[in-house]
Amino acid sequence: MLASKKNIKDTYAMTKVYKSVYGIRRALALKKNRSVGFVPTMGALHHGHISLVNAAKKQCDIVVVSIFVNPTQFNEKSDLDKYPRTFNEDLSLLKDAKVDFLFYPTEKAIYPKNLKTNVKIDLGKLDKVMEGAHRPGHFDGVMQVVNRLLEITSPDRLYMGQKDFQQFTIIQHMIDQLKIKTKLEVCPILREPTGLAMSSRNTRLTPSNKEKSLVLYRTLSKLKENLATTSIDKLISNSLKEIKTAGLKPEYIEIINGNTLQSITNEKDHKYIGACLAAWAGDVRLIDNMILKDER
Ligand code: AMP
Repeated sequence: MLASKKNIKDTYAMTKVYKSVYGIRRALALKKNRSVGFVPTMGALHHGHISLVNAAKKQCDIVVVSIFVNPTQFNEKSDLDKYPRTFNEDLSLLKDAKVDFLFYPTEKAIYPKNLKTNVKIDLGKLDKVMEGAHRPGHFDGVMQVVNRLLEITSPDRLYMGQKDFQQFTIIQHMIDQLKIKTKLEVCPILREPTGLAMSSRNTRLTPSNKEKSLVLYRTLSKLKENLATTSIDKLISNSLKEIKTAGLKPEYIEIINGNTLQSITNEKDHKYIGACLAAWAGDVRLIDNMILKDER
């Protein structure tokens, strides 16, 4: 019997899951001459992830998502163990979003014993601040996994979120240094209606800590509002106070040059400025950021 038009559409819309490097490479090789957009994730998907998928769908013929909780970017084993894993829900979100391929590899597939996967490039001071300073080795792990995933999927475009400001800056640096032929597309932060940045870690927040965490967006918004009229030192001390008063433990808050990621002392000397922070809500570590000025 001939397949109806609807059946053909449904088959095309199916998300195919590949666990092996061979499998995903073969599937992509069969789609030659079609542009590929790639969205790497660690799973526990939410609408922030899906916004990257939607951006990829707009620009590319084939969309590949990976789910891999990368052990080499966790500096604490307890953090890795606690990381939420929700494969069935993830797959159903990806199907709804009509993702073509899901790459869901094992650790062995990403890091086979006989393969050197470390990335050795000079990051200058990019990884010496913020997340890099508080999570030793984190960005070595991030570069290692992203480079390996790019090597496997060879996408035309890579989609990452502004949510991880330092991460996308370092990955852009890696792409430039290693002359990788993939264009990085950075997508805006998706927030809950309350302002809380969507994150896989939010599922671990108690209702009370979730409420307290709204202070992060409030603080960042105030920084933006007051950037031109208040000294950087004062802005930071006010923000720390506000976060503490709300019941969170701030780890850092920095006002940085968006290109170099280094702290600034005078707003007028910079065209591109961001504020980045990390804070603990109970035992959940949250990060957030906001672009305060962009006159590039
Ligand atoms: P993760 O699974 O946390 O490693 O995130 C995978 C990708 O999704 C990264 O490029 C993140 O920056 C991005 N991402 C995470 N949260 C959000 C969000 N709220 N809005 C947009 N992108 C996000």
